[in-house]
Amino acid sequence: MSITRREFLKRGTIAAGAISLLSTTKIKGLTNYPKGWKGRERVQEIPSICEMCFWRCGILGNVDKHGKLLKIDGNPVHPLTHGRLCARGNSGHKTAYDPDRLKYPLMRVGKRGEGKFKRVSWDEALNFMTDKLKNIKEEYGAESVGFFPHGIQARFFEHLMKGFGTPNIAEPAFAQCRGSRDVGYKLTFGNNIGSPEPLDFENTDLMVFIGTHIGENVFTGQNLQFGNAIERGAKLIVVDPRFSVAAAKADYWLPLKPGTDTALLLAWMHVLIYENLYDKKYIRNYAIGFDQLKKHVKSCTPDWAAEITGLPASLILDTAHEMGKHLPKVGVHPGRHVAWYGNDSQRGRAMAILTALLGSYGRPGGIYLSSKIPAPHYPSAKNPKPGPRADGAGTIYPFGSLGLGITNGLVDATHDEDPYPIKAWIVYSQNVIQSIPDPWKTKEAIDKLDLFVVVDILPMEQFLYADLVLPEATYLERYDDLYTVKNAKIPFAAIRQPIIKPLYESKPGWWIAKETAKRLGLEDHFQWDTIEDYLDYRLSALGKTLKEIQNTGIIEYDKDPTPYYDFSKPIKFKTRSGKIELYSQTLKDYGFDPIPVYEPLDDVPKGYFRLAYGRSPIHSFARTQNNEILHGYMPDNYLWINSTVANKLGLVDGEYVNLENQDGILSDKIRLFITPGIHPESVFMVHGFDQKSPFLKLAYKHGASDTYLMSRVNVDPLSGGTGMRVNFVRIIKNGQPIMVSGAVSVVAKFKKTLKSSVPKKRIVVPEATQEAGESEEGC
Ligand code: SF4
Repeated sequence: MSITRREFLKRGTIAAGAISLLSTTKIKGLTNYPKGWKGRERVQEIPSICEMCFWRCGILGNVDKHGKLLKIDGNPVHPLTHGRLCARGNSGHKTAYDPDRLKYPLMRVGKRGEGKFKRVSWDEALNFMTDKLKNIKEEYGAESVGFFPHGIQARFFEHLMKGFGTPNIAEPAFAQCRGSRDVGYKLTFGNNIGSPEPLDFENTDLMVFIGTHIGENVFTGQNLQFGNAIERGAKLIVVDPRFSVAAAKADYWLPLKPGTDTALLLAWMHVLIYENLYDKKYIRNYAIGFDQLKKHVKSCTPDWAAEITGLPASLILDTAHEMGKHLPKVGVHPGRHVAWYGNDSQRGRAMAILTALLGSYGRPGGIYLSSKIPAPHYPSAKNPKPGPRADGAGTIYPFGSLGLGITNGLVDATHDEDPYPIKAWIVYSQNVIQSIPDPWKTKEAIDKLDLFVVVDILPMEQFLYADLVLPEATYLERYDDLYTVKNAKIPFAAIRQPIIKPLYESKPGWWIAKETAKRLGLEDHFQWDTIEDYLDYRLSALGKTLKEIQNTGIIEYDKDPTPYYDFSKPIKFKTRSGKIELYSQTLKDYGFDPIPVYEPLDDVPKGYFRLAYGRSPIHSFARTQNNEILHGYMPDNYLWINSTVANKLGLVDGEYVNLENQDGILSDKIRLFITPGIHPESVFMVHGFDQKSPFLKLAYKHGASDTYLMSRVNVDPLSGGTGMRVNFVRIIKNGQPIMVSGAVSVVAKFKKTLKSSVPKKRIVVPEATQEAGESEEGC
């Protein structure tokens, strides 16, 4: 059943009437507006939200009298960033004015991959796309169209794809990033963690980071909160094989052997339980499965974990004691990009169980709860019932996200034409070649398509393979859907609005979706005339109009600002049992371990290193390498390698080498960064370099690509996410492999150095807490 336009407007009015009664809703004014830069010609400061990465900090665009964007500042009323921006946020205007931008709709005339196109009109482009989509739907069914979206601009098209009838919608935020973590926490507490991670930096006494890279994975708001916590005297434990920016601030740095995190987590649980340091009341009242957990971790002693992780047992013990001392004000950061080894949901669960033992979920200083903010549903006609998914979410991978999908599952299904043929892909603000591992397979999958459409801003590598290219307006040139943030102590909504007019023939996402809908006969999914109408409708839930918040860009909603559990009332967790599940019967029923178990990874082959990759504060994924300012700061990436290993191999800091992976794939050249701050078994590089599209004049062939060295993945059986740190590389110099003879002795030396730097202690298990019998599941 569809709703009419009159009904739609009526619903908006009712919602506005109801919410406007809320006296607690407030808008901050620009009263103490810091002027900052004062260009002579600046005539306007327009608030909006950044999209140089996915955090969407508040910005102010400084525009001159000719409508040119001169400079971007932070929006001082943004509740999380308070006027601060990172280097990328400050450089956004260079993306809008990038001379390499996609300027017009393009249709392929050469072979896929050749990059030969002809310019076409929007009418021709959209007619071509929609004719093809109709034919494919008729022949193969709506589910044979795969949609790969990213960002709030793609939401409109996502609604359209649902209206079209396909269930095959997938973005890498789940399978290549945070999905497994959310699965682990949901199975334990009944809730996803969400974004930004709700760690209570303001109140925490001790932060625990396991593969969390604040300072490199930059979100301005979280960086600020982290910095304030350190300044306030909060302690920090960092677990990371690499001496990261966060590790540099840590009280304890635990550079464990890559892939052994779960052993460390189980040993921490052992100490907390067997030394009676855990939060007994919290566990007694709100958790189930404690006895099974206690039995399970009985043999997971610090000595046991020391052998596996390469860390001194005393360091494991000391850090567990720190947690016991500071609970419940211990913030275990759930991590962000956590798709590492294929056992990632269980590691996420181990982190959640640790958080439970510390009694810090839903408590000040631990993990706070997300809040509610009203926003009416998208006004749409009823979607048709979709057919079965192709990506395995909910079937092969029982805990895979039905909302975010499994990108690699959709690539596999297209590649193998199993469970059915996928004949069209529409990629929207996503980069399928750089963000999904095994790009060869992705390209082979593209070869199976009858239609490959790319909606993007820049001619990234995927553009070379497209049948049709639609140039999107940048985030500085368009309205997008309302951005609501529930994982803030006071939830808020922010608008994105145009600061400058769309350049060339680029079009905003909402326009592309609406025009496509018209041609597909799906207008009922767009029951609004203008984007301003639509935003008014959504804002009506907050009792405001678009016009009323255009001068601030932000509206806070502080109706229910206490993001912690009220322990004076009964608490029901959204799990199957209604309690925190230390032991998961659900997992058991699916045939998985009900309590996480440490599973050793394959050894690093002799002469090779485990390839790790990550982020830099200068670039976002593979998205910003062509930005003139950011390219100037960081034109290419480096390969981190342990100094002891490098010396043994005769390598010199700054020299260029190539890498070859276990399957014989050779990288482009990359410079060495020789440092003691990385585990000898591992090398590390920043993701997103070695762009392979010659149309990106600055970024083309700078540095090496981690993605192209990922010809293997371990797929997480719970979530379907891709563990990508299972690839090994060796160093090639002057065309010859440099063999690491005696790698084992280098690792032994690294362990010895660590051991000698910390006082020796041994765990004492009080007799009264010891139990007869063996661990049921083992570690
Ligand atoms: S962290 Fe930086 S790039 Fe990301 S949204 Fe904020 S300012 Fe923009």
